[in-house]
Amino acid sequence: TEPALLRNFCIIAHIDHGKSTLADRMLQLTGVVDQRQMRAQYLDRMDIERERGITIKSQAVRLPWSPSEGEEGSGTTHILNMIDTPGHVDFTYEVSRSLAACEGCILLVDAAQGIEAQTLANLYLAMEHDLAIIPVLNKIDLPAAQPEKFAAELANLVGCDPEDVLRVSAKTGIGVPELLNKVVREVPPPVGVKDSPARAMIFDSVYDAYRGVVTYVKVVDGTLNKRERIRMMSTGAAHELLEIGTNSPEMKAADGLSVGEVGYLITGVKDVRQSKVGDTITQLTKGAEEPLGGYKDPKPMVFSGLYPLDGSDYPELREALDKLQLNDAALVYEPETSAALGFGFRVGFLGLLHLEVIRERLEREFGLELIATAPNVVYQVDMEDGTEYTVTNPSEFPVGKIDTVHEPVVRATILAPSEFIGAIMELCQNRRGTLLGMDYLSEDRVEIRYTLPLAEVVFDFFDQLKSKTRGYASLDYEPTGEQTSDLVKVDILLHGDKVDAFSAITHKDKAYAYGVRLVAKLRELIPRQNFEVPIQAAIGSRVIARETVRAIRKDVLAKCYGGDISRKRKLLEKQKEGKKRMKMVGSVEVPQEAFIAVLSSD
Ligand code: GDP
Ligand code: MG
Repeated sequence: TEPALLRNFCIIAHIDHGKSTLADRMLQLTGVVDQRQMRAQYLDRMDIERERGITIKSQAVRLPWSPSEGEEGSGTTHILNMIDTPGHVDFTYEVSRSLAACEGCILLVDAAQGIEAQTLANLYLAMEHDLAIIPVLNKIDLPAAQPEKFAAELANLVGCDPEDVLRVSAKTGIGVPELLNKVVREVPPPVGVKDSPARAMIFDSVYDAYRGVVTYVKVVDGTLNKRERIRMMSTGAAHELLEIGTNSPEMKAADGLSVGEVGYLITGVKDVRQSKVGDTITQLTKGAEEPLGGYKDPKPMVFSGLYPLDGSDYPELREALDKLQLNDAALVYEPETSAALGFGFRVGFLGLLHLEVIRERLEREFGLELIATAPNVVYQVDMEDGTEYTVTNPSEFPVGKIDTVHEPVVRATILAPSEFIGAIMELCQNRRGTLLGMDYLSEDRVEIRYTLPLAEVVFDFFDQLKSKTRGYASLDYEPTGEQTSDLVKVDILLHGDKVDAFSAITHKDKAYAYGVRLVAKLRELIPRQNFEVPIQAAIGSRVIARETVRAIRKDVLAKCYGGDISRKRKLLEKQKEGKKRMKMVGSVEVPQEAFIAVLSSD
């Protein structure tokens, strides 16, 4: 297709504002999916996505559209490539690559809710990529819709007239043809160099059990043809293009893809890390010299130790992680051993949602029962003698003369009704935040921007924000670098033995509260033993909190008065059973439930 007839666009929306429903309507209106095949959220393929209503992986579909009579381009079939971006904060980099494949975007806002944090964060990204922005209000069929109010808010945000804000219902289809006409009119066609070596940008890479990795690309310059030998520019790896084509929405092979086009390709590789999001593909011989800009290696931001509840499941856990990694270049892990929890893995994630999704898939798809340690961020520790450490597990925080500790920080965007400003600022201050700025979107809604340590955000920040604002606030954040902070490691000792799974890194000012809370919690969870068990929290060798589990003489046979032998035996058996679910930490028996209860944040 001629570039002049191409339009590459995406839909930016806060969760639940109707992106998937709008995509469904577009598939239907352009005839690529007929009524019989239609099912809700056609493009959300993963089960978890469908159940949670979130889009994790982006997809691209090719929609043929002839603008209506009297409209610009009417009578000519244009090709609209709709690129579905992941909507969640954890996947900012993938969002940025999807946006880089587009020339325009639809900014979709629920007419009953108004702008939310995710809308804003993604809009900022779209503006950084110089995309044409089409503001649209959705759900105008809802009785609770306030199109006038929110059209004004949206117009104010993107700098247009309120009349230029389209009003649609993705549910009924009202306004959707007009929206497609507007995409043709306002999204610029792609510009690239036709007669030059190919440069194609990878914006998604998905593992398929039958076909191997399916790579989604936008051809920026030149042409890629099937059977051609290609090269991944970040690694230099060479592959053959076994198949190339477009999605409409199922895969359809073609002879090639040329300048401005969007589609998929298959090289037979089995692992998404060989076909990395953001990388540039060119021909193996006489290829381009300079890759397209913007490539970054995925960087895990949050780590957690994952341990099988039943130690004999360890090989299954390894196998499951190996499988998941085929489809997830951001998932990293290495074996680790915990004195308290046994054999497991230290696993790195892009963020909390990523962590949750992986845990859920391990449990649901692979039938594993897991204990996960509290999530922590990555710390850089510089010692006075010049040695440097990267700490992904709090129990490995170095001892000795520490010079500085660096922790990752994020830029958080919070949107809420203005009555909650005080509560939000208090929460952010408690979480060591620095106020960056505040803007009113309308007279009663405000956008608040903070720099916050990521460690403070991963620890139930979102839940707190929701409860302090009666659910009205929305949050988005992106990593912005690191800062030096006064951080210390708090260890928990049972009967003098360190419990590695409970070590945590906290700010100096919060260490005491953390120690007191954990020690109190453990005292309730650890049963009495035959001896007294001190539970201590310590920074280095300095104890900052202490509780004691008093000793009991536990003689289960005492009840039997020496009479009934079979009853006695049964009791002994039962006691043995109970012991199996105990873990020995040094000389103390700790029920597994205690670990789970302490590690699940509340
Ligand atoms: P996404 O999270 O942005 O992909 O949102 P979905 O497309 O999954 O929509 C979220 C919910 O809003 C679903 O229950 C949809 O049925 C509903 N919805 C989407 N568009 C409309 C609309 O135009 N009108 C009404 N009444 N409901 C809609
Ligand atoms: Mg969706």
